[in-house]
Amino acid sequence: MSTFQAPKGTYDLLPPDSATYLAVREAIAAPLKNSGYGYIETPGFENVELFARGVGESTDIVTKEMYAFETKGGDKLALRPEGTASVLRAALEANLHKAGNLPVKLWYSGSYYRYERPQKGRYRHFSQVGAEAIGAEDPALDAELIILADQAYRSLGLRNFRILLNSLGCRECRPVYRAALQDFLRGLDLDEDTRRRIEINPLRVLDDKRETVQKQLVGAPALSDYLCDACRAYHKEVRELLAAAGVAFEDDVKLVRGLDYYTRTTFEFVHDGLGSQSAVGGGGRYDGLSEMIGGPALPSVGWALGVDRTVLALEAEGIELDIPASTSVYAVPLGEEARRVLFGVVTELRRAGVATDFSYGGKGLKGAMKNANRSGARYALVAGERDLAEGVVQLKDMESGEQEPVVLDAVLETLRAKLG
Ligand code: ATP
Ligand code: MG
Repeated sequence: MSTFQAPKGTYDLLPPDSATYLAVREAIAAPLKNSGYGYIETPGFENVELFARGVGESTDIVTKEMYAFETKGGDKLALRPEGTASVLRAALEANLHKAGNLPVKLWYSGSYYRYERPQKGRYRHFSQVGAEAIGAEDPALDAELIILADQAYRSLGLRNFRILLNSLGCRECRPVYRAALQDFLRGLDLDEDTRRRIEINPLRVLDDKRETVQKQLVGAPALSDYLCDACRAYHKEVRELLAAAGVAFEDDVKLVRGLDYYTRTTFEFVHDGLGSQSAVGGGGRYDGLSEMIGGPALPSVGWALGVDRTVLALEAEGIELDIPASTSVYAVPLGEEARRVLFGVVTELRRAGVATDFSYGGKGLKGAMKNANRSGARYALVAGERDLAEGVVQLKDMESGEQEPVVLDAVLETLRAKLG
């Protein structure tokens, strides 16, 4: 192992590719900021108990994927594997649900950690942007979140994604379905682990990716046939609102998702160019979660979109985001005196908001111009002793190659006009 090697299952975001990640985060956040969601940031770790209760003792996330540890002080913590439990915990702790109108609408962006088998699109450290709408039961809220995720993906230019939609019922109708499903599953030829899962969390068996299991699941009872009238009406309304908004979706009665806390609406965004790591995002309604972590009844809905997989989806569709060069002007001093004067100009330009960089380290003209080129700057400012004696700098248009002298005092004004 080399000291200069990132841990297994992780990777670094480096320029220039890192600009794409930033742009993806911003594109996902933009529709949320525009729809009444406020930014929330919570710690990278929580008491392990929060996830055990909030995500679910029977989920892969808690049993296999969590980075749990004990501190020197004896606190049992875990790196956060997902965002929802933390956001709800923070909202409850700050009494946001009592402060004003419900729902409390929050969005977040950050790093998450799962001890998984690393492969393309599946990492041990990854990045999500998420949204939660806490404390309201209204199909329009479920629809809003799906519409905003759709808008985010479309704003990035993505087209080859699909929205899978299902309802998981509520505490009235799900237990009846659960029992019927258990009856069906107990009659199948399944391994020991899966048989245990039938007793703890039978819906998760529907989510099993193995062909041998999926083959046997043909003919399994479908939750859609067991929904109570209230859940049925709720789901119908969500579907109608999505249709009215022109957002296409597919009904997927097998969509259960990996977390225990979901009720009613669940959905997943899948991209067809990503192989087996096809889920780019997902979410749903979690009406029981607040009570599960010790809070009052607060019906809520949310989603999390994976930034890493969204970037892979862009690559799969051959989409290059239009990211403007970060540097507009690059200053090249020739000699000591020029270095002092041009550095002053650079500072002035920066303070005026012009993105400017400087050739450091006393490079010669050739090397410095190479760096100017690399920076993507539209203009270079070059000055030597003769220029300074005349009180000018040379302004070079990096596209046309044309060069003209500009009086020192007029540099800012001239560049402002040229850069528009
Ligand atoms: P999967 O079924 O692929 O394991 P998941 O259901 O565990 O996904 P969620 O918990 O719903 O995923 O997280 C939301 C999104 O976060 C996913 O759709 C995905 O884009 C991203 N994500 C989840 N786990 C990882 C990971 N290990 N590496 C990269 N991205 C991930
Ligand atoms: Mg997973």
